[in-house]
Amino acid sequence: MRAHEAGALHAEGYGAPAWLALPRDPNELVPRLWSSGVARGPDGALTVAGLDVREIAREHGTPAYVLDEDDFRSRARDFATAFDAAFSDLCGGADVYYAGKAFLCTEVARWVAQEGLRLDTCTGTELAVALRAGLDPAAIGLHGNNKSRAELVRAVEAGIGRIVVDSLAEIDRLATVAEELGRVAPVLLRVTVGVEAHTHSYIATAHEDQKFGLSLSGGVAAEAVAKVLAHPSLRLLGLHSHIGSQIFDTSGFEVAARRVLGLHAQVQREHDVVLPELDLGGGFGVAYTTQHDPMPASELATGIADIVGKECADLGVEVPRVSVEPGRAIAGPTTFTLYEVGTVKDVGLDGGGLRRYVAVDGGMSDNIRTALYDADYSCTLAGRASDAPPVLSRLVGKHCESGDVVVKDEYLPGDVGAGDLVAVPGTGAYCRSMASNYNHVARPPVVAVRDGVARVVVRRETEEDLLALDVG
Ligand SMILES: *Cc1c(COP(=O)(O)O)cnc(C)c1O
Repeated sequence: MRAHEAGALHAEGYGAPAWLALPRDPNELVPRLWSSGVARGPDGALTVAGLDVREIAREHGTPAYVLDEDDFRSRARDFATAFDAAFSDLCGGADVYYAGKAFLCTEVARWVAQEGLRLDTCTGTELAVALRAGLDPAAIGLHGNNKSRAELVRAVEAGIGRIVVDSLAEIDRLATVAEELGRVAPVLLRVTVGVEAHTHSYIATAHEDQKFGLSLSGGVAAEAVAKVLAHPSLRLLGLHSHIGSQIFDTSGFEVAARRVLGLHAQVQREHDVVLPELDLGGGFGVAYTTQHDPMPASELATGIADIVGKECADLGVEVPRVSVEPGRAIAGPTTFTLYEVGTVKDVGLDGGGLRRYVAVDGGMSDNIRTALYDADYSCTLAGRASDAPPVLSRLVGKHCESGDVVVKDEYLPGDVGAGDLVAVPGTGAYCRSMASNYNHVARPPVVAVRDGVARVVVRRETEEDLLALDVG
């Protein structure tokens, strides 16, 4: 009987994207989509670091971001160790800055520091989180294409290790601030090298039509170098390049490194200044679905080290101290979002057939990436296993918007219904950090789990929190 419950929905692969295979067993977890501590327990429910998700849901409610602390620490450590090892012969090692915009709270900032990484921020408040976590200011960077004067003052007063300057106007702004405070501000110049990386490819263009950085073409970046060198209150550490996100190979970095090192060598020739540092940005990809197959940190590190070593040799310059800025690749896979299912609806499609909509108690307010970037995610039944045949399903939220989709396509067991728990993996980066209060929905907590114990590191917002802002 069960095999027929979903009727037309069982038509194999009906409406599914080409990459999504009908699973032999929809209960099976694809390891690269999940943090290392996630498993299916003896009675079929998911566990994280030994803790049953039903217990997390009971104690902390849903939706909740469930963060596997050991997995986060080990991904951070792997990046730090791999890059340091790969660059040790070239320039005595490399520095890894965790890109805090992926997900930041004081607890995570401390983990990052404890595992030997530094931290990138891109607003005054991200910087405030890092300082409140007790991080060494020298190990903090500040990005941003439109930093306010107050943000620059805060950064210079705190004595952070690098301010990544993004425009010609900002050079004078920062120089003035540093001079007023009687300090010398350490500067990296963000250069746009005309390389735009996408998931499986990159495009090299003469110039990039976007708001970030100082263009290499037309001599804007070279002008910025001369300007920084002329200001006694600024110290130029080096050049910075960030080419994109969700990148799966090193070909884009090869072109970017060649171009940015070209300017680095030009600075040495024309100004007789050896810039001590070079930052190649972040953007290393993660697996959101079975389509994605990311490189291990060690392979990325040796690939990038080979590229930098060869380019510097060709240019006849010493290899500067290299840094990189992974965000997603550290935070993304460490976390899944735990939801409770409410309404399940089978909707007739124009061309015939049906689509199953499984609605959960969150949505685009806790994961905007599907709506914003057309991102793909996967999901699984979390509170139990099921032997019901898989049905192609769409996981949607509770918001007043038809684009409120969390997972566009996934095979879920055909008997998923109200009260079931569903987990969406890969939500550690750019989900909580981009969460909104759309429809006056309170943002979910981040619950860190280690050794079978759950601990709230960001609490759930309450209705009182939201109403408190309304002072009318
Ligand atoms: C966003 C960003 C990163 C991190 O990107 P990921 O895709 O999360 O690795 C690093 N550097 C800069 C300058 C960024 O803007």
